[in-house]
Amino acid sequence: MKPILYNLTDTELTKFVTDMGLPRFRAAQIREWLARGAPDFASMKNLPADVRVKLDDMATPMPVRVVQKLQSADGATTKFLLELADGNKIECVLMRTTYGNSVCVSSQAGCAMGCRFCASTLLGLQRNLTTNEIMAQVLTAQWELRGDRGTSRPNGDPNNGDVSHVVIMGTGEPLQNTQNVIGFMERLNHDLGIGWRRITLSTCGIVPGIYNLIQWGRPINLAISMHAPTDELRSQIMPINNKYKLDDVLAAADAFTHTNNRQLMIEYILLGKKNANGEIELYNASPEYANLLADKLAGKNCMVNLIPWNAVDERDFASPSGNAVHRFQDILIKRGVHTRIRRERGTDIGSACGQLRLNNIKNKS
Ligand code: SAH
Repeated sequence: MKPILYNLTDTELTKFVTDMGLPRFRAAQIREWLARGAPDFASMKNLPADVRVKLDDMATPMPVRVVQKLQSADGATTKFLLELADGNKIECVLMRTTYGNSVCVSSQAGCAMGCRFCASTLLGLQRNLTTNEIMAQVLTAQWELRGDRGTSRPNGDPNNGDVSHVVIMGTGEPLQNTQNVIGFMERLNHDLGIGWRRITLSTCGIVPGIYNLIQWGRPINLAISMHAPTDELRSQIMPINNKYKLDDVLAAADAFTHTNNRQLMIEYILLGKKNANGEIELYNASPEYANLLADKLAGKNCMVNLIPWNAVDERDFASPSGNAVHRFQDILIKRGVHTRIRRERGTDIGSACGQLRLNNIKNKS
């Protein structure tokens, strides 16, 4: 297999370059392109044309290759289907927002968690992603924003600026791949200068992993995928709840936010279920559950993100009506719980949670 130059150390890259008969300074030039996420050698404009062709024969620049790129109709969301060196496919999403450019990255190829509403876990876990493979997702988005320009584009260009925020909310459970994910966050901060407060890690509630984050000690944002206020209901939709009970998850999350002085983010997908008459019944989205959720979160410094469920064909849930969503939110607000309804981004390009990857794999088989 061709070497992936992004994965080489500086010493290894220099050796590779000099073994090709090139002067050492070419290594530094290549490194700079790789750090910007250059997807191919043809983009590396300060290398002689024959060197670019030769490099293309001998090596691969990045650990990911874009196989598909989808743009939402409003232009704000770009979704990438990426291929890894071993043929595995992963997804990442770039979201251009009023507060900056946010990238959602995957931490694993597939997922072992088995959440009943989610597309990412349908085919199980293939493997953990390396720190470089997670980093390369961000650099793919960065390249999309900046292209081969070293500097930002003119003001007013929707692609102006850099990646400013990163959410680890793509496919996979980051706290089943904690060391590589921590390595990734360190690199975000060190290589791209992204502040800890602009990084959000979302977990289904792996309690020891949350304590690992506390030990690590960086003030990132923590999001807990809660989705139900009782163990009984949560265990029905999230098998991990049989291992780590909700109160233990929330206690660990509290410990995290106390050491870091951060507001805890709670994610709550609103799910309905079709009954025999084809009517949508509220599943975890009833007023009763809204009250139970408010009880559970009373006194906590948290923000509840209500997420309308993105339909997944293989899953027999349904999205509750807009009215039901607002009723649920109103109860939380009346009970003094901070809450907002997550804006859906890029639903027209299947930007929900592993759907692009799933469809790609299904179409092949
Ligand atoms: N494993 C981590 C991160 C990946 S999931 C976690 O569980 O948090 C990121 C978020 O997307 C989670 O809150 C997850 O529950 C949610 N999600 C999964 N499938 C979804 C769907 N079909 N519609 C809306 N949100 C979904």
